[in-house]
Amino acid sequence: RVTDETILRTDELVKKFGQFTATDRVDLTVERGEFRSIIGPNGAGKTTLFNLVTGALPVTDGRIYFDGEDITTLSPAERVRRGIGRSFQISNIFGGLSVRENVRLAAQSIDRDRYGFVESLFKPTDRYKGMNDRTDRILERIGLSDVADEEANALAYGDKRRLEIGVVLATEPDLVLFDEPTAGMSVEETQETIELIEDVLVDQTLLLIEHDIELVMELSDRITVLNRGQILAEGTPDEIAANRDVQDAYLGG
Ligand code: ADP
Repeated sequence: RVTDETILRTDELVKKFGQFTATDRVDLTVERGEFRSIIGPNGAGKTTLFNLVTGALPVTDGRIYFDGEDITTLSPAERVRRGIGRSFQISNIFGGLSVRENVRLAAQSIDRDRYGFVESLFKPTDRYKGMNDRTDRILERIGLSDVADEEANALAYGDKRRLEIGVVLATEPDLVLFDEPTAGMSVEETQETIELIEDVLVDQTLLLIEHDIELVMELSDRITVLNRGQILAEGTPDEIAANRDVQDAYLGG
């Protein structure tokens, strides 16, 4: 599934908070189609790196390239438009809306952005049909067609997670950033999440922050280990498991 086409590349990326360097000259390259996990001890800089890639935080130094273009100074909204989607730990679901409305709203936000206001005036019918078709396809893909008209609040926990993924997919991302999808989950819920990711996100490029090392080993094509803001190691799950530096960083703190 991993291609040799680079989708995301950071070049000597630096983020400082005052004197403190949270991201320290990080060169990260992600190929289209791969599942990449970012792991590392608490405070290693994983979330900061995500925030730099999505544009939630401005960089201190270095560049970020997406699909061959320099996106270092683009706004978060512009990055979403270019195809960077993010799924948050904190839900981005509107509980009072139906399942379908939640997906459609996300589809609509990107539609307006991608095709522009003037174009949307000319062919409104085509546009709505396209959006509705896309919404239906996503509901199907996440397995929620049957409950499409139910209020999101009423969904079972696992179905809420599915809907969250649907909301991200509705923005048609080329790269999905996934922030601790199993945070606070039981063993069974974690297993369900693994199946869901394998099932629904199989053809996506995924950048994942995850503490559950079993999940990381099971899902990742490659793993990047951060420690004190720097890349400590990078490789396949087997390579990372056998890496002494990684073992020391985790065990020694
Ligand atoms: P991780 O996600 O790997 O746990 P973070 O990226 O959240 O790590 O944090 C990396 C380091 O940067 C931590 O030491 C944290 O305290 C610091 N940090 C993160 N955000 C800020 C901020 N807004 N201001 C100051 N320090 C921050």
